[in-house]
Formats: sequence, structure tokens, C-alpha cells
Amino acid sequence: MRQVCVLGDGQLGAMLRDAGRRLGLYVETLDPESSDALPESAPRRHAIITAEREHWPDNGFTRNLQAEPGWLNASAFAALTDRQSQKTLLDNLQLPTAPWCPVTVDANLHSLRTALGGEFLLKRRRGGYDGRGQWRSESAGEEGMPDWHDVAIAERCIDFSTELSLIGARDAQGNMVFYELTENFHAGGILQISLMQPGRFARWQREAELYHARLMSHLQYQGVLAIEFFVTDAGLLINEVAPRVHNSGHWTQAGASIDQFEMHLRAISGLPLVTPMQPGCSVMVNVIGRAVDPACLALPGTRLHWYGKQERAGRKLGHLNFFHPDAARAAEWLRRLPLDVTFAESRERALRALVGPNQAREADMAL
Ligand code: AMP
Repeated sequence: MRQVCVLGDGQLGAMLRDAGRRLGLYVETLDPESSDALPESAPRRHAIITAEREHWPDNGFTRNLQAEPGWLNASAFAALTDRQSQKTLLDNLQLPTAPWCPVTVDANLHSLRTALGGEFLLKRRRGGYDGRGQWRSESAGEEGMPDWHDVAIAERCIDFSTELSLIGARDAQGNMVFYELTENFHAGGILQISLMQPGRFARWQREAELYHARLMSHLQYQGVLAIEFFVTDAGLLINEVAPRVHNSGHWTQAGASIDQFEMHLRAISGLPLVTPMQPGCSVMVNVIGRAVDPACLALPGTRLHWYGKQERAGRKLGHLNFFHPDAARAAEWLRRLPLDVTFAESRERALRALVGPNQAREADMAL
């Protein structure tokens, strides 16, 4: 049996393990924080080595792992894990992205506003996720800008109508497949809800795939990669790229014939890559901060994926998936889901996307 090792043992790794079991691949997840040496076991010497995260501590274990012949996507990690080199690569490949500049030692609020033509965000170059490691210039008070010189980039605040992501995969031969574009609803920088409705973003699908393909080909990438986009009046702008399976692709577990975890394993282990069937509407809702309300499980069609983590404010603890061929049924499920008030705005926007403003309003009145 072919062995796959995954750097990282969070929920993404666990879901890759499950997918491996289905495919008959042995997938082992490795915690880079707790190991200090790579055991010299023979099978691992021949393993395919992938990652479920793009940041890891620099220690003997991670250095050994990256020196293994089976370590994949070294150049992608080198280019994408630092926002500054990621943005530079996107510019070099002429992939549209939010205007940005480095935060040099002499940069200040005024110089950055001038350089970017208005309000901007500071984003830490490494380690920021779920909106962490970000600061908005509109919020600048007395104390001004944080001292993130050299450790952040500045990016113009984008006026977008919605946020989309495209999950795609490439194998060693250069074959590529893509899922349908997913619409994502965030609050406070954290993804709350993802929606996939076949054909809804047909207008953008081809363009998004061309950008995605250009990036994966350039990096000779193997596996699943996710690109997040802003939809603006001027077209798609890339927000960020994640060289791994992604939260906005979790809906594929219920709504696609091959989910993103299986797709990743197929792509890295030489199994056939085929475009999955995605025949209806999929809704994914993250469970954030607090244990899931058991009433969610009373709604037919609910599929819960629980990560077994301790409750903590803002932490993703699990997710709920729902799939139905009919958008109205998907909306009905989302309406009835007992969610915390912090989801109100995302849910409202997602309902509008699913059934249009009138039906979303009628449903609100009925609640
Ligand atoms: P990120 O961690 O870069 O994905 O950012 C988290 C969220 O912050 C995004 O999903 C957007 O909702 C928002 N955001 C990030 N960059 C920008 C930007 N340049 N302009 C406006 N909103 C942004």
C-alpha cells in the first residue's frame, strides 16, 4: 500500500486520512510541534510527503521532512507562504491582485495612503489567518499604525460585491481539474458560510480557471490548491492563494462525487484526476467558538464534521454540510439551522444568494 505523509495533524490532515482509507492509501499525519526527528522507518523513505498547512516551525523534524525525496511542492511553499513573495509572484505572472506595496522601514500612514490611493490594510507577511495579523487604516486612531515595518505588506481596501474561491488540482503530468466557484461569506475575517450553486458564477468560471491553471503550471504544483477572489466592477482580483485543501472546499464532502481531500490524494499519488460531478446546491456552515447545537442534527440532510478541539472564541471547531438539487430546499435548511447571532448577516446574504431578496425576506418574516 502506497504511503502518504502529511505535515500537520489538524482537521485537514484528519480529513485527508479519512479520504486515504476510502482510496486504499495509508495516510499518516505528522505533528511538527511534537516531533523532533524523522524516524528512519523504511516505508517513510518511499512516502509521498504533502502538507495540510503552509506554516510550520523550523526544527530538525521539518528540515528532515523537506529533505526527503518524496517532499512535494517545495517551490510553491517557498513562493506562497510569505505574502510579499506571493504578491510578487502574482504580479510577475500578470495575475490580477489587489494593489499592494511592501511596508518598508520608512513607510507611514500618509506615505502608504498616497502609494495605494486611499485606505489600505496591513497584512502580516507570515502566519496571519482568519483575519488575524491584519490592521485597517480606517481604524487608525491616536496611536496610528502598528510597527509592522518589514513584517507586513500594505494592500488597498477593495470594494467588492462578493468573495469567491476556486479549488483546483494538478497532477505530476500536468492534468488539471476544477470545482465550480464557491461563494464565501465572512464575518470579522472568519469564513462562516460557503455556497456552491452550479453555474451561478459561470461568467467568472473560465477566467478563474485560467488564472488558477497559470499559477499551478508555473509552480509545477501537485495536489489541491485554493485561490480566493474578490469580485469587483473591474473583474476578478486574487485575494490570496493557499497551497493545500481549503475550508471553502469542505462542501465537496457532501456536494461532489469526489471531495477535495480525495482529489488531493489522487493528484499526488498518480490516480485518475477527473472533474467531479457537482449536481446541486451545497451549503457549508462553520461551527465557530462553541459546541454545535444538537438541534442542528435534527434537520434532515445535515452532515456534521467535528474536529475534536477545545472550545475557544473564534476557533473553527467543526462544520456542517448540506446538499440538495433544489436551491429552495438548501435555503430552507440554512434558515432553520439554529445559529448564533454572529451568523445573522452572513446567513441573510447567503439566503439572498440562494433564493433572491424577496423570498429571503418572506422567510425572515415567517421566522
Ligand atoms: P484574508 O485573511 O486575506 O483572506 O482576509 C480575510 C478577509 O478580510 C477577506 O476574506 C476579506 O473579507 C477581508 N479582506 C482581505 N483583504 C482585503 C482587502 N484588500 N480589501 C477589503 N477587504 C479585505
